[in-house]
Amino acid sequence: MRPSILDPLFAPTTTLGGVGPKLGKVLDRFLGDETRPARVVDLMFQLPTGAIDRRPSPTIADAPIGDVATFAARVTEHRPAPAGKAKAPYRVLVEDETGDVTLVFFHADVRHLQQSLPIGAFRIISGKLELWEGMRQMAHPERILDPKLADTLPAFEPVYPLTEGIGARVMMRIVQAAAERCPDVPEWQDAGFLAKAGFPGFREAVEALHHPADRQAAEGDTVARRRIGYDELLASQIALALVRRQQKKIAGRATSGDGGIRFRIQSALPFELTEGQRKAIADIHADMAKPERMLRLLQGDVGSGKTVVALMAMAAAAEAGRQSVLMAPTEILARQHAERLAPLAEQAGLKLALLTGREKGAGRRQVLEGLASGAIDIAVGTHALFQEGVAFHDLALAVVDEQHRFGVHQRLMLGAKGEAVDVLVMTATPIPRTLALTWFGDMDVSILSEKPAGRKPIVTRAISSERYDEVVGAIGRAVESGAQAYWVCPLVQESDTLDVAAAQERYVALREVFGDKVGLLHGQMPGRDKDAAMAAFVEGRTRILVSTTVIEVGVDVPNASVMVIEHAERFGLAQLHQLRGRIGRGSAASTCLLLYKGPLGPIAEARLTIMRETDDGFRIAEEDLRLRGEGEVLGTKQSGSPDWRIARPETDGDLLAAARDDARLLIERDPQLETQRGQAIRVLLYLFERDVAIRLLRAG
Ligand code: ADP
Ligand code: MG
Repeated sequence: MRPSILDPLFAPTTTLGGVGPKLGKVLDRFLGDETRPARVVDLMFQLPTGAIDRRPSPTIADAPIGDVATFAARVTEHRPAPAGKAKAPYRVLVEDETGDVTLVFFHADVRHLQQSLPIGAFRIISGKLELWEGMRQMAHPERILDPKLADTLPAFEPVYPLTEGIGARVMMRIVQAAAERCPDVPEWQDAGFLAKAGFPGFREAVEALHHPADRQAAEGDTVARRRIGYDELLASQIALALVRRQQKKIAGRATSGDGGIRFRIQSALPFELTEGQRKAIADIHADMAKPERMLRLLQGDVGSGKTVVALMAMAAAAEAGRQSVLMAPTEILARQHAERLAPLAEQAGLKLALLTGREKGAGRRQVLEGLASGAIDIAVGTHALFQEGVAFHDLALAVVDEQHRFGVHQRLMLGAKGEAVDVLVMTATPIPRTLALTWFGDMDVSILSEKPAGRKPIVTRAISSERYDEVVGAIGRAVESGAQAYWVCPLVQESDTLDVAAAQERYVALREVFGDKVGLLHGQMPGRDKDAAMAAFVEGRTRILVSTTVIEVGVDVPNASVMVIEHAERFGLAQLHQLRGRIGRGSAASTCLLLYKGPLGPIAEARLTIMRETDDGFRIAEEDLRLRGEGEVLGTKQSGSPDWRIARPETDGDLLAAARDDARLLIERDPQLETQRGQAIRVLLYLFERDVAIRLLRAG
């Protein structure tokens, strides 16, 4: 249960003074989701995006024109709209010894103005000051104060992200009211660390966050923001460490063999393993041989050769007489994995079977029986299939080929109660180092950083779609000289159906030029047709494959050395990189043509430039992060895991590393979170909603 000290923060926003049901609804839409209303804590963790400087100018003459100005002045005259001109503004003149300003009010509430700006009174006035036909004027001042209340005007007023239906002033007021609800929480950080970093206490930090001392403080990196960011990082690292420990506790089994099958596979490979592959394979075998469960991430850019690493892991399981599954994200990929691995497996005396939603009837039954009896050593299929649960004789290893789709974190959480199977997750998302650390905590990671030898760099060009005819001509010449080409069709909005329509249209158009050399592949084709289209391209019967982004994942046709991506400006960097990774796999030089429709926005232009400049997946991922933010790189926006509220992965790398070490040490010393600090850490986990991990504590 959530510690009651946090209750005020997790109450709905309508518990705040001044937030009625109507405003509450607007806030729910802004900060809540389907399962819960917006809460006080959601407001408290709103970060200011900047601040308005309301420091008073000594005189009207000194007040900045064109900016927010604050000054004291005496009210000298009211000028109502002339009779019969109801739409004309109401004007109030104010002055000091250096000059005057006309305050302008449209649709004025005259009675109210007479009260707040009585003639002869001194007032502090703040708002945007402008010059109108040589006269200083201010339309609708943002603040009009009695000088007695001057102290209530902050020198720097924080500005918050707004939503329709809530103005800046109201937002500031309710965020600050929420921040005032912050209780005196027990300190969960190490006192020595706080002192060294110069971090304030939590409550003090919250207060400082919402009362910036200057403009930079509101925008940038203050100790207050970093302190709370560190709290958030620590909460997440502890949660991950707890999950991880729980998983390790479910006893695994040591799996090791005599190396015979591995030797046979390695001798049958038509290439030498790279150093990275050797190292990854050795790490995996060492993990498997231990009695704890393996939980390892194999990270390698597209084309880095992850599949063979998986095969060597599965071979080790087979040597121990145990089974493995290889789960692919799509049916096409499952099939391709099965086709490519089967010959190698066979030569080594292993039985490999394919199991997807399309295997039906007797064939399917046979596979299921083989898995249950242990006759089949390796099962290849789609993720969905194995989530439904298939009975194995003795499953040792699950290899999850995530490619760039990134459900690992969820999978980890789910796996926390799962079977004692070794897990190897393969991802082609080149995760920037800082993020990998955040995301995986102490999950073990192997990285394939070099590409297999003999790869030729890919030449990438960005071309306006107005030059479509030239592009078709170039593709024609490439095909003439024996190359094969992918033609990737645009992502039309978020709709599968529209994507497909675009691909079909292009297919028809290219067929008119190239006849039956053109194939078509999209996600809505029946499985059998997809296979046929893929097979025709693999065997070279078709030379140009028009497709939607279904080819993004894993497809491997070494002879394909040209790729056209239409409307490249609509794709994210990571996606462009994944797509381009389909070429440059053979011995021929490859070309990627990014067709764009101008005019390009600055981000789209930056993306295309980066794509032209590099094919280093890590660099691309870093740039992507810079351009789009963390959630999108990891694909977490869709999968629903929380983004950081306060922490900034791009600048808080040092904090991340510290949080990770701190979390490890803490869990080692106080695995049940029972010490005084442990109790405070529980509050922290609830505060940042990483409390799933606490449930694990109880279960364990
Ligand atoms: P990914 O990491 O993208 O899944 P794959 O495993 O599909 O990459 O490998 C890409 C291609 O590289 C395949 O054709 C594979 O046979 C080949 N390959 C893998 N390892 C090596 C190597 N060490 N030397 C040469 N080619 C290799
Ligand atoms: Mg792959």
